[in-house]
Amino acid sequence: MSISYEGCSSDPAPGAGSFSAAFFDGVSSTRHDVRLRVAGRQIVLDRADGPITLPASDARLTRSSCNSPWLLSFADGSYCELRDGHEALAPLRQAGVVSVQMPGFVSMLERDWRLVALSIAFLATAVLVFYVWLLPKLAEAGTQMMPASMDARLGRAVFAELEGRMLQPSGLDMDQRDKIDWRFRELLGSEAGQYTLFIRHSSVGPNAFALPGKTVVLTDELVTLVDGDLDAITGVLAHELGHVESHHALRSVIQTSALSILGAALIGDYSSLLAAVPVTLGQLRYSRAFEADADSYAHTLLCTRKIDSARTALFFDRIAVKSGNLAELVPDYLRTHAASRQRAEFFRSACP
Ligand SMILES: [Zn+2]
Repeated sequence: MSISYEGCSSDPAPGAGSFSAAFFDGVSSTRHDVRLRVAGRQIVLDRADGPITLPASDARLTRSSCNSPWLLSFADGSYCELRDGHEALAPLRQAGVVSVQMPGFVSMLERDWRLVALSIAFLATAVLVFYVWLLPKLAEAGTQMMPASMDARLGRAVFAELEGRMLQPSGLDMDQRDKIDWRFRELLGSEAGQYTLFIRHSSVGPNAFALPGKTVVLTDELVTLVDGDLDAITGVLAHELGHVESHHALRSVIQTSALSILGAALIGDYSSLLAAVPVTLGQLRYSRAFEADADSYAHTLLCTRKIDSARTALFFDRIAVKSGNLAELVPDYLRTHAASRQRAEFFRSACP
């Protein structure tokens, strides 16, 4: 039986005795430290819970390059990563291990730095294309396929996570809250029954945000910031409806959690990922592109409902002043709205 060492150092010296190896059963990713030895035509793996004996004729010995460890694979899908690979080669060969192969491409990469550079450039491009183009498209498709009941359940979970921690009962009088709620329903028209608006006092300051499941949260502090101007508040709520319509919350979570989702898919355990979703959503900040989409949606909706969109500019003007004067003190939400002045101008633009 011939062993190929294409491009590698010389034939190994014969070894004897037992050899250190990591055993994987081919079903789970659990690694078992074993001692490997050869007994006639059998390969014996000494594990803490007893030996495993496998026929050498079923085994196949491979490695992908000169510097990678030797892998001893068996017909049932299990395999060993040999730590003392070179010493173990001769006994394994004598026991009848089928063959040793080395893919030419990997060893060629080891010898040619230009191919390595090309591979790195290809990989970097692939990762960039995935994150910039493919992942947003997958996230969009994923949220559109999600059933409404799951969306609503997720929204309730996120709201429960926030309630009590950063949201407390509103301090606004009932009459003012009723007026805001009435304007919100007027904005929604026939879809009003599907949405819920929560008005809350909040430690995060002037804010409004949309959760999955057609839920919108508005803080007392935002109402105070615009002196209770109902048109300005309606404009901010219209902006949040833009986030709801385009599923921005879930799309952002999918995009920011892509690596966790991939990891969960590989190990088949989604429980920790699902547990983290409400927290991730609670701390979410949107990209500039999502904010521009929601602004555009709000402007069109306000024009359709014959509401003066220029009043919404009041919110962004006050945010701009607040972030300018109190750069050190304002919450993150305000700092992310650095383009407040431009957004105010957008809301002052005439209806199409
Ligand atoms: Zn927004």
